[in-house]
Amino acid sequence: SLLAQTAAHTPAHTPAMDAFWMPFTASRQFKSAPRLLAKAKDMHFWTPEGRQILDGIAGLWCVNAGHARPKIVEAVQKQVAELDYAPPFNMAHPKSFELAERLIQITPAGLNRVFFTNSGSESVDTALKMAVAYHRARGQGTRTRFIGRERGYHGVNFGGISVGGIVGNRKTFGPMLTGVDHLRHTYDPARNGYSRGVPLHGGPELAEDLERIVALHDASTIAAVIVEPVAGSTGVVLPPEGYLQRLREICDKHGILLIFDEVITGFGRLGAPFGATRFGVTPDLMTTAKGISNGTVPMGAVFARQAIHETLTNVDSAPHVIEFAHGYTYSGHPLACAAALATLDTYAEEGLLTRGAELESYFADALHALKGLPHVIDIRNIGLVGAVELAPLAGLPGKRAFDVFLQCFDLGVLVRTTGDTIAMSPPLIISKAQIDQLVGTLADVLKRG
Ligand code: PLP
Repeated sequence: SLLAQTAAHTPAHTPAMDAFWMPFTASRQFKSAPRLLAKAKDMHFWTPEGRQILDGIAGLWCVNAGHARPKIVEAVQKQVAELDYAPPFNMAHPKSFELAERLIQITPAGLNRVFFTNSGSESVDTALKMAVAYHRARGQGTRTRFIGRERGYHGVNFGGISVGGIVGNRKTFGPMLTGVDHLRHTYDPARNGYSRGVPLHGGPELAEDLERIVALHDASTIAAVIVEPVAGSTGVVLPPEGYLQRLREICDKHGILLIFDEVITGFGRLGAPFGATRFGVTPDLMTTAKGISNGTVPMGAVFARQAIHETLTNVDSAPHVIEFAHGYTYSGHPLACAAALATLDTYAEEGLLTRGAELESYFADALHALKGLPHVIDIRNIGLVGAVELAPLAGLPGKRAFDVFLQCFDLGVLVRTTGDTIAMSPPLIISKAQIDQLVGTLADVLKRG
């Protein structure tokens, strides 16, 4: 029976599992065969039984410097003993200022004001609010509409799912924000299948979709466009050549703010500090999280052009009045700041923010060698992100990739699936031998057919 099987598969270390409501989890499947992680170091996790797992996805696209790095561990340990918490409203602690100054050394020129959050979802909602408030403050209060993109992922808060484009994350939750429209997504396997790096075809014309939407709603109603430079959570969808440049031009033409959601693409994932750096297109607002603190302590940050910050703060109200009514109890938390400062040190000392560029072609060679294996229908890559697209099983979308994920885990390699895409985004410290193991294990599983 299923119950007997479950008992047989449940390791001795497994805790009681009823109370914990798991996030984004196939929980009946999980609880029937739990996959627990008990320890991590550098490129690896270990299960409670001591089985070593190669981390092929940097935790969840966040542990960019690898696990339990000494500087970060030490900084957090020291910080918790020295200043565990400081209120961030009308008060501050020095490390939040120090971190903001450090961060703007690596952001694209012009993005030099930093607002701290605790997650990608919070960064997204913060940026959307900044956009609307900015237009209002400069006398353009009719600009309240947001333009997202199909297949976009911007976290799970109401703002993020409204501009997001994943039906499964939207359909259950009612009308969400009103006044949101969506650009077409940029996935075009017929023309751009098996592209190495940035796809060549269709970029400017896909961006022209924004002109269609502006013509429909009128620019005077639109606050901002939000896109991921490379969509991660919907299966690694790249911007074709010229796409982001053209979006930038159209936004400028119509006075619309451009927001890049760099929660995944930030902090070295694409072989450059940010997607904006890699593609040479600077947004007006940039949302980040994940790699900012190496996943060690939750943190996010929104980067804004100085003019946006100034418009919102140089107001002629009495000095005691709060200019921008937004923030979180844990904005710029001391532990997160300590972790982030040590993370930036580690990135700098080891050249990690550009290491993805050095390894890109080796990783691409390994990935694209999977072409022709059973059920593989597309392969995509950039920096240290790779995706292998599988043909869905008839009537069971997502199942084929999920089964591959389970088999890889049994063989000691952690990959991630969304739909029938298998995504890989290893820590930026990965060695070539570990790339071989990661992609080789996937190949072994795919060869089973
Ligand atoms: N935005 C993007 C582009 C993401 O990839 C994610 C998470 O994967 C988020 C936002 C949400 O981040 P969080 O889960 O930290 O709220």
